[in-house]
Amino acid sequence: MLSYQHAYHAGNFADVHKHLTLFAVIDHLLRKKSPVTYMDTHAGRGLYPLAAEETARLQEYREGVARLWQARARLAGEPLLDDWLAAVGRVQSRAGGLDHYPGSPWWLSARLRAQDRLMLFELHPGEHGHLTRQALPDNVQRIHGDGLQGLVKRLPVPTPRLCVLVDPSYERKAEYAEVAEAVCQAMRKARHAVVLVWYPLLPAGRHRELLEGLREGGVRKIWRSELRLRESREGERGMVGSGMLVINAPWGLDERLEAAMAKVLPLLGETSRHRGDWWVGE
Ligand code: SAM
Repeated sequence: MLSYQHAYHAGNFADVHKHLTLFAVIDHLLRKKSPVTYMDTHAGRGLYPLAAEETARLQEYREGVARLWQARARLAGEPLLDDWLAAVGRVQSRAGGLDHYPGSPWWLSARLRAQDRLMLFELHPGEHGHLTRQALPDNVQRIHGDGLQGLVKRLPVPTPRLCVLVDPSYERKAEYAEVAEAVCQAMRKARHAVVLVWYPLLPAGRHRELLEGLREGGVRKIWRSELRLRESREGERGMVGSGMLVINAPWGLDERLEAAMAKVLPLLGETSRHRGDWWVGE
């Protein structure tokens, strides 16, 4: 049963972390002309009006994108944040306002070139319905189905380069192992693929199963970025941080993200921390 809807969380600190990382990876891929196939295995709706009933209920964007948006004059000069915030500005209904937040399908399709292609998988019929109503370029394919199975089934791709975003809701504990299994299979079929995997930092530390699965499957040399808002409290269950793995991370990505995160951290509260490292499966 699928009950998660990303609209309740759109634009929160985890989205900022994830989409900033994705944005930086796309920057690197665009430095070469050769075509890229992008796959977004868990696409969601694509674009989130902040006044929508679901998003307005928790208003998580206030502790996420809104913090950066309000501080954009102060952040000016940090190249990645400048470009990222300019991109956020392009989906607003009026200049200077913040009334929409773009989801991964938007981040990916906005920078698609004629030679590239994008596949968006979404399993939830309602969320897929929202996605089909978005105006997206012709080289975007929207697929109503399981993204992990779809990924493995569609490999190898005809383009020389491949970039995959895996961003599940982890509603079921088994998803950590399922993600690891699908990513390992994908890496066997497309060794060169740049794969981004998002995971929540929970007090239970469930993401360790994901890392362990990747290690057992032989996936090594991963850039790991963890943004932690605070240490978890006794008996707590909610998300305290956001993690991103980038397999085959482009050269220089780590330094660009470290520089951007150093500017973002003070906006997220004094207990927030960022750790970036090369995870080699130990
Ligand atoms: N990637 C989106 C973004 O950054 O804007 C957010 C995705 S949200 C965290 C996870 C989405 O995956 C939900 O819309 C959910 O319906 C969908 N989903 C859950 N299981 C799935 C599966 N097996 N295959 C494809 N989509 C799935």
